[in-house]
Amino acid sequence: SALYGIDAWGAPYYSVNGNGEVQALVEQGDDTVAVSILDIVEGMRARHLDMPAVLRIRNVLDHRIAVLNESFGRAIAEGGYNNVYRGVFPIKVNQQCHVIEEIADYGRRYHHGFEAGSKAELIIALSQLRDTESLVVCNGYKDAEFIDLGLYARRMGYPVFFVLESLHELRVIIERSRHLGIEPLIGVRMRSATKVDGHWSQDSGDRSIFGLSTTALLQVAAELREAGMLHCLQMLHCHLGSQVPNIRNVRSGVLEACQFYAGLVAEGAPMGYLDLGGGLAVDYEGASANSTHSMNYQLDEYCVNIVETVRETLDPLEIAHPVLVSESGRATVAYSSMLLFNVLDVRDTRPGNIPAQAPEESSEFIAHLLDVLARVDIDSYQECYNDAIFYRDETRELFHRGQASLRDRALAEDICLAVMQAINALLPQLERVPADLESLPEQLSDIYYGNFSLFQSLPDIWAIEQVFPIMPIHRLDEEPRREAILADLTCDCDGRIDQFTLPGGLRNTLPLHALREGEDYYLGVFLVGAYQETLGDLHNLFGDTNVVSVSINPDGSFDFVREFHGDSIADVLSYVEYEPKHMQEQFRKVAEDAVRSGRISVAERQRILQAFRESLQGYTYFEHHS
Ligand code: PLP
Repeated sequence: SALYGIDAWGAPYYSVNGNGEVQALVEQGDDTVAVSILDIVEGMRARHLDMPAVLRIRNVLDHRIAVLNESFGRAIAEGGYNNVYRGVFPIKVNQQCHVIEEIADYGRRYHHGFEAGSKAELIIALSQLRDTESLVVCNGYKDAEFIDLGLYARRMGYPVFFVLESLHELRVIIERSRHLGIEPLIGVRMRSATKVDGHWSQDSGDRSIFGLSTTALLQVAAELREAGMLHCLQMLHCHLGSQVPNIRNVRSGVLEACQFYAGLVAEGAPMGYLDLGGGLAVDYEGASANSTHSMNYQLDEYCVNIVETVRETLDPLEIAHPVLVSESGRATVAYSSMLLFNVLDVRDTRPGNIPAQAPEESSEFIAHLLDVLARVDIDSYQECYNDAIFYRDETRELFHRGQASLRDRALAEDICLAVMQAINALLPQLERVPADLESLPEQLSDIYYGNFSLFQSLPDIWAIEQVFPIMPIHRLDEEPRREAILADLTCDCDGRIDQFTLPGGLRNTLPLHALREGEDYYLGVFLVGAYQETLGDLHNLFGDTNVVSVSINPDGSFDFVREFHGDSIADVLSYVEYEPKHMQEQFRKVAEDAVRSGRISVAERQRILQAFRESLQGYTYFEHHS
């Protein structure tokens, strides 16, 4: 298990138990309860929830909400801060109904609210309104309909903020507010000049597409003053970007936001809320470093930095401490979900049997290749590498001209592969690996074909080269002896995973176990709860996967609290405007023609039509039929 670094990226939620299986760990009072993921998979199988599937662990989601709120609570209490923290969950990060409902239910004890970036998301947030202390923060461009909905919620006593993206929007808000006779709560999104490290650096800085320029902020204050509504301007909003890996960026971003806040107070706005957006990172690598997939700080440090910076900046200016708001999405939901899938097949790169001597009548290059194979050692590996490729290519050349047989070619390729493997085995002994040999481990790795679609379930791997921790969920008491890359079910060369987070850094291959006859081999992709589900697409018409949510009980048992069967083939076809019923009818006519022309019997027609119907109702992924 140390091999996969789970204790670094998975703590405190995932580890390996004494049976070599990944287990989920949840706090229950003073105890920690562990459940093997494989046991949950067994339960899924019994319920016909086949692989691939997303598994959510409700307790982990609850715990994330708790630690976020409690860390801010501690930083506030210990830092002499005179106000409270109010988190909001950005709905775009995971819009799935039961994730949102759980955040609303569990989060209510902390008055944890929602951030909405569209009308649809606002409607989700409004449907969850229960508590007049939980905030709803509306970002994004808002039309009159959006604004009316927010104003009605205001009338009912809920703190719904409109964060302005443009001056035009302000005019619509003023107009709708007068028309309905309801006063809005207004926030302004500033454009931060703080540049951040990591992937999302473009969300901040002068060229950020979001937020109001400094001049536009002043204009907002002026227009509100003129409309007699300056008292409605109560929030400053700032978002530096997602997955900010460097705590120094957080500190300088907050410092800049505080100066804007003070500036708006000086303009006469009452203010009262400082929303610092998202950005709290997830350590996908477990490296604790300032790098794209990691972070150089802990949650407590993040909270203390924010609380201290705000207090230290505003105290000398004698400005009251605002309510601190953050819109942490990734850090709230990433840990609670994993994608599970089985491996369908392996393309093994091991060479076939290699004879001790070149077969009679084979080309002379075969004998040369066998010589090279016998010579590979630490002093001659580079020369052997060059020679093996040369003789293999010469054999291919002969083959092209019809002067070598298919058997010669196969043997030459196998011997060359054996030479590469012998050289690969020497690489760990080398002080420096020559550039042309660096990719040897990847070239020689196996390909494990997984029952999943990268485009549907892990789109960020394809779109932004995100890395997620991936490992087998069982057999971890056995040494994995194969090195592999992963390929998905789509016949697309982009449907591969060849970057893995392993202790010591990113690697191009993943150590895996050889498949056993008649036994499933399950892999888990962890920390996938943020952004993956709705960004996924229907490439090759692989649809939504099955999803289950489990809740772990104090006695170590678990309940399936939610289960969703993924898309059927009929579902995905209807998404692209087919009518499954019509298709069935068309196919019925094809079968009828075949009967009429005597190619099939009526009984065969029935079987064929039934197979067609059943496929339409089936799962879009690879199914095992017993
Ligand atoms: N708030 C806003 C305005 C965002 O654009 C985002 C995402 O980029 C978030 C919050 C969530 O950020 P994170 O997932 O890093 O917490």
